[in-house]
Amino acid sequence: MFPLLGVTFVTPVRLPEETVLDADRTLREMSSVRRGLGILGGTFDPPHIGHIAAAKAVFDALLLERVFLMVANEPWQKVGHRPLSAPEDRLAMTKAAVVGIEGLETSDLEIRRGGPTYTIDSLEELRLSNPATDLFLILGADAAAGLDSWHRSIELPTLATLVIVERDGETRAEAPPEWSIRRVTMPRVDISSTQLRSFAARGTTLSPFVPESVIAEIESRGLYGLGGS
Ligand code: ATP
Ligand code: MG
Repeated sequence: MFPLLGVTFVTPVRLPEETVLDADRTLREMSSVRRGLGILGGTFDPPHIGHIAAAKAVFDALLLERVFLMVANEPWQKVGHRPLSAPEDRLAMTKAAVVGIEGLETSDLEIRRGGPTYTIDSLEELRLSNPATDLFLILGADAAAGLDSWHRSIELPTLATLVIVERDGETRAEAPPEWSIRRVTMPRVDISSTQLRSFAARGTTLSPFVPESVIAEIESRGLYGLGGS
């Protein structure tokens, strides 16, 4: 400070660059209080980077506490249309897919419940076991378009907020008006489990669409005609 003609000049204190960056980071972390549980349901036959990128995009954008990749026991839309891998195999692959990814976990709730899988039952169970936690049902735009046909679909919006994951360039998916909706955009990852099963059937590698940890699980379990004993 330099007193001069009754005026006080304050010389700005220059903090080392690192100190400024640390303070900035701490502020950002303090403001990101994570709340809410995301649920990305799927068959995961096999899980792929599209699933992981969608779950991670929602975890980051909505600052959720965690996102469950919830493995369906008997997905009613798929049963009878094609052979499905066993739930335990799909769960093991999905566990391998999320290893080391912050915020992502698997849930075997639907497998433990057994029988045909209806999302309404899962949301009701989660609501009972987590009464103070907001639930976020995550769907890709393709899945959101068919919501009306789901079992007890009218009751779903009373239990969760709908999160529609839109892939860059995709047509905007509409949902029934009862829903409270959040939209999250993610980079387009144009791959599906169906494509990956046909890759495996013609001997094309699943890499890089399926993480190496999942490929190892597939081979050790002899799924999709790969590896196996
Ligand atoms: P299948 O080909 O057997 O239908 P899938 O790859 O479409 O498998 P699902 O189990 O049907 O996977 O999808 C689970 C959820 O993941 C759905 O909400 C779906 O919209 C979303 N999803 C699937 N593929 C992608 C992708 N490539 N990018 C973002 N989300 C995806
Ligand atoms: Mg699908």
